[in-house]
Amino acid sequence: MSTIIYPSPIFGPVHSRRLGISLGINLLPADGKVCSFDCIYCECGFNSERRPTQPMPSRELVAQRLEEKLQQMSAENQLPDVLTFAGNGEPTCHPHFAEIIDDTIRLRNQYCPQAKVSVLSNSTMIHRQQVHDALMRVDNNILKLDTIDPAYINKVDRPTGNYDVQLIIDRMKAFKGHLIIQTMFMRGNIGRRYEGTEAQEYEESADNTGDKYVEPWLDAVRAIKPQQVMVYTIDRETPAHGLQKATHEQLDSIRDRVIALGIPCTASY
Ligand code: SF4
Repeated sequence: MSTIIYPSPIFGPVHSRRLGISLGINLLPADGKVCSFDCIYCECGFNSERRPTQPMPSRELVAQRLEEKLQQMSAENQLPDVLTFAGNGEPTCHPHFAEIIDDTIRLRNQYCPQAKVSVLSNSTMIHRQQVHDALMRVDNNILKLDTIDPAYINKVDRPTGNYDVQLIIDRMKAFKGHLIIQTMFMRGNIGRRYEGTEAQEYEESADNTGDKYVEPWLDAVRAIKPQQVMVYTIDRETPAHGLQKATHEQLDSIRDRVIALGIPCTASY
């Protein structure tokens, strides 16, 4: 299995054509994964296979390592275009997420005021007022909404606690447009999955590209009124082995239906 565990608390920078120079901030432990979802497509692997032994980095350590890295990048004249909260799980699970956002904005303003601060989140903590308020302060508040079908969500995103998709939609509306919805589309089936040494067969479909899923999702997008939507598909090896990429045509078609609602949308293949 070639899923990835990222260094913590700082990783990269990664150079990409779309984002430019992106410096990663990983608020999860360096040796495993912590997430309130357990997606069958997660590039970090299944939660059960990636249990960490180390703690999450402290607020102080994140600020210290970020400042050191920005000083180094400044000396090399290679300052980042974006500071991206991502990594081994869900950043908003960190108990000091809001304070870390404030530290990051302060350091961004000091070292690279042109850079954007982006957060990739699975949306499960946006009901917490502190998390909501912190996400209102970042430039790119990128929130996952893979479908609005509870059975699909339980099968594919696999929340580890209570998850009420209608509540998530209501909380997304509360951002009043200050959010980017990110949605994974894929085909195939859940396939063979390993629990320890036990192989279990899951032949259920994981395909969310059909109208059964896309139409209600479009209704939710229309109601949430995000500033942008990003649709994408699997890119790396996934822990569940029966998954397949959505086609370019499928992603383009979904993208065009979002644009027809008057909402900017990008598709990544
Ligand atoms: S929300 Fe992200 S980090 Fe968490 S399991 Fe899903 S893909 Fe992995």
